[in-house]
Amino acid sequence: PTLPYDPNNIFAKILRGEIPCKKVYEDDFSLAFHDIAPQAKLHVLVIPKGAYVSWDDFSAKASETEIAGFIRAVGHVARDLGLVAPGYRLLANVGQDGGQEVPHLHVHLFGGEPLGRMIG
Ligand code: 5GP
Repeated sequence: PTLPYDPNNIFAKILRGEIPCKKVYEDDFSLAFHDIAPQAKLHVLVIPKGAYVSWDDFSAKASETEIAGFIRAVGHVARDLGLVAPGYRLLANVGQDGGQEVPHLHVHLFGGEPLGRMIG
């Protein structure tokens, strides 16, 4: 089973404004901000505002509005940062085997430089 949501995880604190972030996008359902330890020239994290640990948790429990809003937020960020033409990469680490460190659903968005191929 999915781990219970920890309301004191770092992204929950960012959402509550208890710790700062470099915000790139926000709407009713989602927040995007720069990763504190960027792994590419541009490295942004996009998170839903709801308390979801993982993609499976989110897809099982979130409303259609939250799910659509989150996916739209990823698109907003890519467009706002001018990444549509050059391209970018999305990545989600999920759970222990996936190497997830922060237990609040997030998608990594990498770009701003050629990223090379990860698979194949
Ligand atoms: P995960 O390994 O869970 O997929 O990724 C968590 C990401 O959150 C890492 O890339 C890490 O650098 C980032 N991160 C951890 N703590 C903070 C923080 O306090 N602020 C920001 N902006 N990013 C953080």
